[in-house]
Amino acid sequence: LVVGAARGEGDIFGRPVPNIVWCQTVRQRGLVALFLGAMLAAGTAAQPAFDLVVRGGRIVDGSGGPPAPADVGIRGVRIAAVGELDAGAARVIDARGLIVAPGFIDVHAHADNIASRPQAENFVAMGVTTIVSGNCGYSNADIAAHLAHLERIGCSLNYGTLIGHGTIRTAALGTADRAPTPTELAAMRGLLRAALEAGALGMSTGLIYVPGTYADTDELAALAEELAAAGAIYASHLRNENARVLDAIDEALQIAKRTGVAVHLSHLKVSGKGNWGRARAIVDLLRDARVAGLRVSGDQYAYTAASTSIDVLFPAAELAIGGRAFAARLAGDPEFRARMRTALDATMQQAGFGDLSYCRIAHAPGNADLDGLTLPEAAGRRSGRSDADAQAELALELVVAARGRRITMIYHTIDDGDVETLMREPWIAIAADAGITSRTDAGKPHPRAAGNNPRVLARYVREKGVLDLPLAIHKMTGLPAASFGLEDRGAIRAGAFADLTIFDADTVVDRATFAEPLLAPQGIRWVIVNGTPVVADGAPTGARPGSILRRTARGSERDR
Ligand SMILES: [Zn+2]
Repeated sequence: LVVGAARGEGDIFGRPVPNIVWCQTVRQRGLVALFLGAMLAAGTAAQPAFDLVVRGGRIVDGSGGPPAPADVGIRGVRIAAVGELDAGAARVIDARGLIVAPGFIDVHAHADNIASRPQAENFVAMGVTTIVSGNCGYSNADIAAHLAHLERIGCSLNYGTLIGHGTIRTAALGTADRAPTPTELAAMRGLLRAALEAGALGMSTGLIYVPGTYADTDELAALAEELAAAGAIYASHLRNENARVLDAIDEALQIAKRTGVAVHLSHLKVSGKGNWGRARAIVDLLRDARVAGLRVSGDQYAYTAASTSIDVLFPAAELAIGGRAFAARLAGDPEFRARMRTALDATMQQAGFGDLSYCRIAHAPGNADLDGLTLPEAAGRRSGRSDADAQAELALELVVAARGRRITMIYHTIDDGDVETLMREPWIAIAADAGITSRTDAGKPHPRAAGNNPRVLARYVREKGVLDLPLAIHKMTGLPAASFGLEDRGAIRAGAFADLTIFDADTVVDRATFAEPLLAPQGIRWVIVNGTPVVADGAPTGARPGSILRRTARGSERDR
């Protein structure tokens, strides 16, 4: 414009300009054109149509529908437009050759310490933009204070939490191995209501742990009434994941039937060699329940190994005295030690492997040099013997040496065929069951913390063809958003929050192993939370654009 007018050619943007009588000279025309041009330039520079455009990628929108080429235009924290976008943008991400998915949502995190690790790097590196913590019966006790604190310090990803059943039970009656009195139950209901009002997304149970294991179905149903009334979810670590897993699922379904609550079954699996293949029966039972109108969902991780405390090798009733007292008794009471050895042998028999070779030490305080070894390997290193007797004796010694500090174990007890059976189901979400890890952590934690989502995309989608890419993405995005009532997340559409994970479907792969469990995945190129990149061209940015997610009655009702 400026150049053209200054030359006196009399056109603007290629159109002839009507005779401008008050611009008699080329110089006058040039000045007017300069003025008009500056006005236009100022206008467009101050307001490009988008803050960020992701251009040229293939969109997998989280609904389960097929990939489609489109650009994504972002204004502020939300997606403003999806389509062929020519308008200006302050910033452009070139996504040619890449998949553009909604940011992954992991509804089974153990990230209750996020205040000390707000960048949650292992999660964002996997493409996770939202986590739900407070699982397996344990959470922060004061949800209002916890969420307010996180809001002040800021997190890299969006964060919501459940209230732990074990947490409120401990507040009401400690770790007593009995039913609550009516007064205590009323107190628990009050604590639950307060947590829900503060924004907890629901309640989790850990029915193999102290004190959740001491709760009967009536107690859980009473609390589920509060959840149902609030439109909040009941997320359960089942009472049994081995030979009695179907009974344990039935208990959860009974609670759904009695109260109308929406039930979510955490880290679905079948443990123990004698039970392999029973995922089929689980799927049949839960499909029937869904057809019958019960609101049932679940999640799973993409590994054939579980991870939890060493406590689960011992009878829950014996653990009521507390970890420190349990370890002291094991050290000083030969009769008790003999009884625990018998119990350990029974656990071993149930697992069906003939010994404890399925157990790997993730972290044993006091024996850190054994971290990462299986029990036969560790026993061999300590005693020169690796047989079942030496393994069991070492397990007891580990508990004694830890003196009540948590020993984390990895249990290789799951069949890959069962993992696949569950992964094909469109109502079972993908979730890591992991905490926020750091390279400075002691021990060798389960590699799922750094590999779960990429492992689904690499191993189960690309290599084995167990499920297709749109279904896998749905199970990481739209499905968990709907189950947990997370409004305007888990989808790519105008109006949704701008949480995006942009990756190369041909090369994405997990690198974390049991030997090197903290290695970050490859192929996740950009991770965007509320419009701001937290991973840019494969590298973490350290930005903290995450939102604190509180349950709203509207959200939990509308999305189901
Ligand atoms: Zn659990």
